Amino acid sequence: MPTKITIQKIEKSHISEVDFNNLPFGEVFTDYMFECDYKNGAWQVPKIVPYHNISLAPSAKVFHYGQACFEGMKAYRDNQDKIWLFRPDENQKRINKSLKRLAMPEFPANYFMEGLTTLVNLEKDWIKQGEGNSLYLRPFAIATEAGVSASPANEYKFMIICSPAKAYFSGEVRVRIADKYSRSANGGTGFAKAAGNYAGQFYPQELAHKEGLQQVIWTDASTHQNIEEAGAMNVFFRINDTLYTAPTSDRILDGVTRKSLIDLAKLMGYKVEVRYVTVNELIACAKDGSLKEIFGAGTAAVISPVLGFSYKDEAYETPLPDNSYALKLKKHLTDIQTNKAEDPFGWRVLVE
Ligand SMILES: *Cc1c(COP(=O)(O)O)cnc(C)c1O
Repeated sequence: MPTKITIQKIEKSHISEVDFNNLPFGEVFTDYMFECDYKNGAWQVPKIVPYHNISLAPSAKVFHYGQACFEGMKAYRDNQDKIWLFRPDENQKRINKSLKRLAMPEFPANYFMEGLTTLVNLEKDWIKQGEGNSLYLRPFAIATEAGVSASPANEYKFMIICSPAKAYFSGEVRVRIADKYSRSANGGTGFAKAAGNYAGQFYPQELAHKEGLQQVIWTDASTHQNIEEAGAMNVFFRINDTLYTAPTSDRILDGVTRKSLIDLAKLMGYKVEVRYVTVNELIACAKDGSLKEIFGAGTAAVISPVLGFSYKDEAYETPLPDNSYALKLKKHLTDIQTNKAEDPFGWRVLVE
């Protein structure tokens, strides 16, 4: 059943004040946002309203117990001015997995999809043609109920905000392989896009920054041998001519980029194996030259090559090879996302 989403119009867009040639990631937001409240045991009628600050009690549970989760996705404008989403059903399903794990009420699929497409349609002017341009979409949900008793809230707010984005260049990325800190554990919330997962990463990341490294490669919490993720991205290794990435589990985020790259790599004739690469294996392969590439995969940067890694006191370089699989995959995937290449998997969704 389609919902009637109400739209509260703004008087004047602030788009003319925005310098689209100079857009730091995630700092500029569009004119509107999507908002839906949960109370009395049900999600209320969703609405689109002007982007605005929200007011919450200082005791609101999100501030104390971290009941908060989010999604990250993008809308693109092709050369014929059509607007596309990339596999939005995956984000819709995933936020419900995150909500469920955090004892938050699942969000109806039709509210999510209609809210998203209505909002993107309204904000079309913010999506520019051209390589790397997109509208970054951030659906998220928080516990709004007042009161500091440690129990799941009875009131929540689901929102979607939009931020115009340029190609995301993280610069040269070198990483520290974690041998002490962990991002997630068996039975924990690692598979969910829980806000708290990020909070727990910031301190080890700061320690890496102090050493001149940009990210942390996370290993399993019990042995610190199996490589799981790179920062807030899934991670791939190319050893000789085969790509490896860890299997998803309750410790690993099931990235849309990761799963798309597995399918695309196979289509492009690359060998892909879903299995753990261990730290010892990685070091051995770096030493004997069979380690050709490391890259992170996620919506914001699509693919981010990793040019070196440090483990304990040793540093290893992994410069981009000629014939980089990472760069070829990135080009092909962004061409599919922006309707420049055929979409054999049916991943693109036209926004009408
Ligand atoms: C969001 C996220 C990813 C990447 O997921 P995509 O769907 O590809 O954007 C990977 N790892 C973590 C921890 C994440 O939060």
